[in-house]
Amino acid sequence: AKMREDQIKKTKTVCTYCGVGCSFEAWTKGREILKMDPVPEAPANGIMSCIKGKFAWGHINSEARLTRPLIREGEYFKEVEWDEALDYITDKFKEIKEKHGPDALGFIASSKATNEESYLIQKIARQVIGTNNVDNCSRYCQSPATKGLNRTVGYGGDAGSMDDLEAAELVIIVGSNTAEAHPVLASKIKRSHKMFGQKLIVADLRKHEMAERADLYVHPEPGTDLVWISAVAKYIIDMGWHDEAFIAEKVNHFDEYVESLKPFTLGTAEEITGISKETLIQVAEAIRDSDKTCICWAMGITQHQIGADTSTAISNLLLVTGNYGRTGTGAYPLRGHNNVQGASDFGSMPNTLPGYQKISDRDAVSKFEQAWQVQLSTNEGMDNHEMVQGIYDGKLKSLYVTGEDMGVVDSNINYVTKAFEKLDFFVVQDLFLTNTAEYADVVLPASPSLEKEGTFTNTERRIQRLYPAMEPLGESKPDWEIYCEIAKRLGFDWNYSSPADIMAEAADLVPIFAGVSYERLENFESLQWPVNKEGNDTPLLFTDGFPFPDGRAKLHPVNFARHYHIDEEHHLHINNGRILEHFHEGNMTYHTKGIRAKVPNSWIAVSEEAAEKYGMEEGSKIKISNENGEAVTQVHISKEVFGQEAYLPLNDNGKSAINYLTGNVTDKDTNTPAYKEVPAKIEVLDKK
Ligand code: SF4
Repeated sequence: AKMREDQIKKTKTVCTYCGVGCSFEAWTKGREILKMDPVPEAPANGIMSCIKGKFAWGHINSEARLTRPLIREGEYFKEVEWDEALDYITDKFKEIKEKHGPDALGFIASSKATNEESYLIQKIARQVIGTNNVDNCSRYCQSPATKGLNRTVGYGGDAGSMDDLEAAELVIIVGSNTAEAHPVLASKIKRSHKMFGQKLIVADLRKHEMAERADLYVHPEPGTDLVWISAVAKYIIDMGWHDEAFIAEKVNHFDEYVESLKPFTLGTAEEITGISKETLIQVAEAIRDSDKTCICWAMGITQHQIGADTSTAISNLLLVTGNYGRTGTGAYPLRGHNNVQGASDFGSMPNTLPGYQKISDRDAVSKFEQAWQVQLSTNEGMDNHEMVQGIYDGKLKSLYVTGEDMGVVDSNINYVTKAFEKLDFFVVQDLFLTNTAEYADVVLPASPSLEKEGTFTNTERRIQRLYPAMEPLGESKPDWEIYCEIAKRLGFDWNYSSPADIMAEAADLVPIFAGVSYERLENFESLQWPVNKEGNDTPLLFTDGFPFPDGRAKLHPVNFARHYHIDEEHHLHINNGRILEHFHEGNMTYHTKGIRAKVPNSWIAVSEEAAEKYGMEEGSKIKISNENGEAVTQVHISKEVFGQEAYLPLNDNGKSAINYLTGNVTDKDTNTPAYKEVPAKIEVLDKK
């Protein structure tokens, strides 16, 4: 039904930016957004919010929004009717599948889209096309954390809720600029630290706000976190401070793990990480003295060649000290996008069906085969990184990317965009004509969160509903409707009347969502998976053991080989990440005028020492380059960074300077690009 344009409407929604999952009442009048009101009943945030959730909604009514489907004609796009665009896409899909087989097509889901949409894109790939080539942007960020947790404790999600984090006696933050990347979660830690005596240790290259506030700040050499974390674990065990009862009752492989720790002496750790033995002992003592310890981490850990192994080392440390299964304990990989948790949960991954049911698990596959009435492929699909490589190798001929500006956010974008040019057929579905869309054969106009119904899952595994505050702009459509149209044209009439039907199907097929339903998620109600049939959810994991056949966790042996360092030829290590005002490269946040005015461009933070050494001043223009590409930016001299370490924020007027410099090296277990391993040369362009 058409909504009344002249009345103020209040709609429950969930923030479209970070994984904290703040929810709001959106006050709108027609298409005008009057305010975003955080209300006390919002489960993740209460009355808190940050600048992005409160104000960064300029993308909704931006003039740059796509409102009609586009088809390429030579160098230009022409606007077409939906039918023409969809017929064209499905004819091409059929043709490519016939000629090259189903594995010549690839699909990339969006972590900005809803759970239901993530479910449907993997259903198109698996049921309609017959391939497991489907992935999402957790490949760029959190796959290593998921891997590290799956192999040790069995669930790749936060161990508890933000409430549990607040109950910790000690919080250790590693490789996360929490105050800017997860502002509301950081506020909760700040409050517990300041008012309730919670201890805080921060390990990071940068002395950012949380590091400033910490009781102890630890500065490791880039890429060496696995070493200091494992050295602390070894020292704790050597001193007999580990939790023997917990290990005896709940943990396997202790002896193999202890054996693997042998090389991680305090002396070796000091040499490799640059952290003094005294500091390492202080960390160990703080863990010994705390009854409840949580460790939070983010991209500073995962975006390395050993991202999964370092995440594993964190989980190992928590296991040997008995820090799982109680409030105030556990692992907290802080999820980046609003729905990066959900995109993986709902199956847009090349090796797992929805709910992390493996494609190698015959029973799980048959359940889906019965429900979907097709025989499913059990060949493991290509992940994002392999799809790009697959284009170069001639294996992947067609790519369908939803809400992901790969040509900006993937590492080594010169390499990635050249791959786009080699595709036989390229579909992009987005809000804007992104850098990626510029390479497409067909561009479909999608609708953002405020224009659709669905659910998002935040970093606490909390599933929350969003309701449409307004109609889709122009002829844009919610992604789920577009997917249904595509499936129908390819012979699968799914017949969903609304996203609630999609969730009902997922609940039937996925044990961790068994009791999830739209009725149980009305308004500000939420559920944290796993949710049993009766609708009981799990705010805190592992209270009754671990989800392995014997109910016991698995310590995983660790090892370390030096894999990254800045050589003589390069001047700086270019660390990178978010800033508070913008979300990533800013392709959504730059549409909000106030934010654009406040932070129009990016800069590079360099140390006083590096500035002096290379003749840089505040505001100097410099060229940063390496074998992958180059970027020009302005210098900001900062006390937050040290020596040869610099920091380049991701935002750059909707583009990204950093990904001209990032390379093709990835985490060895998950193929997550090693975005945080960037050595570069610099040239000062306006030396005074
Ligand atoms: Fe909350 Fe994150 Fe949105 Fe800020 S960006 S309002 S912290 S969900």
